[in-house]
Amino acid sequence: MGSIQKGEDSSEFGSSVIQDVWLCDTLEKAEAFIASPHHASSSSDEGGRYKIKMQNYVGGSFTEPPSTSTTTATATSQYIDAVDPKTGKTFGQVPISSADEVEHALRAATDAFGPWSTTPAAARSKHLQRVAQLIQEHRELFAVWESIDQGKTLERARVEVDRAVSNFKVPQLRTAARVVDGANILTYEHRSPAGVFALISPWNMPLYLLTWKMAPCLAFGCTAVAKPSEVTSMTAFLLCEVFRRAGLPAGTMNVVFGDGATTGSALVRSPLVRGGVSFTGGTATGIQIRRDTADQIYKHLSLELGGKNPTLVFGDVEMDKAVQTAAMAAFENQGEICLCGSRIYVQSSIYDDFVAAFTAYVQANYKCGERVGAHLPLPLHREAPARGPGRRLLDPPTILTDVRPGSRLLQDEIFGPVATISRFATEDEAVRLANDNPNGLAAVLLTRDGARMRRVGERLEAGLVWVNCWLVRELGTPFGGMKSSGTGREGGEYSRDVFTHVRTLHMPLQ
Ligand code: NAD
Repeated sequence: MGSIQKGEDSSEFGSSVIQDVWLCDTLEKAEAFIASPHHASSSSDEGGRYKIKMQNYVGGSFTEPPSTSTTTATATSQYIDAVDPKTGKTFGQVPISSADEVEHALRAATDAFGPWSTTPAAARSKHLQRVAQLIQEHRELFAVWESIDQGKTLERARVEVDRAVSNFKVPQLRTAARVVDGANILTYEHRSPAGVFALISPWNMPLYLLTWKMAPCLAFGCTAVAKPSEVTSMTAFLLCEVFRRAGLPAGTMNVVFGDGATTGSALVRSPLVRGGVSFTGGTATGIQIRRDTADQIYKHLSLELGGKNPTLVFGDVEMDKAVQTAAMAAFENQGEICLCGSRIYVQSSIYDDFVAAFTAYVQANYKCGERVGAHLPLPLHREAPARGPGRRLLDPPTILTDVRPGSRLLQDEIFGPVATISRFATEDEAVRLANDNPNGLAAVLLTRDGARMRRVGERLEAGLVWVNCWLVRELGTPFGGMKSSGTGREGGEYSRDVFTHVRTLHMPLQ
């Protein structure tokens, strides 16, 4: 239940818009609320439906909407619709923050950096535990709005809220000291927070991927301005209220809403971003960010980009299990996970049996509105307009068989419920086909042969390889891609490299 919980630091709300939304922790309540008439803190469409006007969170407070803002010179004038993809109806408005508003937020992060970066790690960690606890207590609230905003099923949304909670369990720094051989000199590595960061996330797993960056950024002593995707901003808006209630020091984590061209671009380019940019999204955007920051060599860049991941099915598999794993890897969250195995390669000896079993299984188990939520239009839909809010579809998964090498279907990321199935004859051919793609994010290997698991697994050009399973992760292990799928790794101690500077000290042992 989303009422104010005992033990929360504040019985008041940071914003009247949040106050309105906070109790809507079931789909029924949220939908009834959206359909309710015009309210003072919102705007409404012609049908009188409520539209939640999201507000930036800067310096520990929600910014006033433009009409009541006293700083009109920097106020937002444009909004993007937030759309429920299941109904196509607009339920909210996401401000497109201007360069001035981005700078205002970056100044708050800069002011907060000094005190936060010198706060003991254990004290920082207590704040993060409080944030995790509050998300946990409001699990249904976050899951309901994630489902409404992104189109994913409520069940899938709950899994991602739980993962967001796990994100806040970041390990503390551990460093090792050594003695220089024969010189009686002590040497050790010292880490310090790298500075103010820009954190930018995509639309497909909104809360999970944003907190994946926020938690280590704060844990390692940095401050930030975060920008969620303009397509799915709602849970980031709710998260700001959690930060406020958790008593997270003002300015340590600021959230600005907006698109890439205006808000995101201003954020990554700003010289106030002294630490770096942690970005998750498409490869083309990653390339643009690298260009935009090329002459700011001091910025750490962590780029988690797109994938076009292979699933290799060898002739020795147990068919039922292989079908289930391959289907989950292809179609979980409507195929809108960067790690989805959308290129399935099957050994010729079992190809026909696999195609028949896979098709039957997907038809029976991946039904629209049940395991498959609403998704964006794909390049396959000929009339599909340019992607954007309000233009999503509810379609069953598409399976394309006998797709030949050289087809663009095997090259370009589709990022939706579409999987191809192709054949291979030998192990070498399987590895060659799997690696025949510019991306290298993830791969799935299905076989019962233990020696092959290592032999093939270690040759796959992918940052993450799953053998006979998919998506299970220990969140402290390195996450990231090879080739065009990105630069750098995040997760546990790997995030430490993103968010800290390292220096090596040498001193005589007297
Ligand atoms: P996108 O690149 O279009 O947008 C991602 C974010 O970048 C958004 O917040 C957007 O507003 C912002 N942005 C856009 N242009 C920008 C610019 N010039 N400067 C700064 N910010 C800018 O990606 P998307 O469509 O939201 O997400 C889908 C893509 O993300 C897919 O390619 C998917 O594979 C990838 N993805 C990767 C991972 C991973 O961990 N590797 C995880 C999830 C999604």
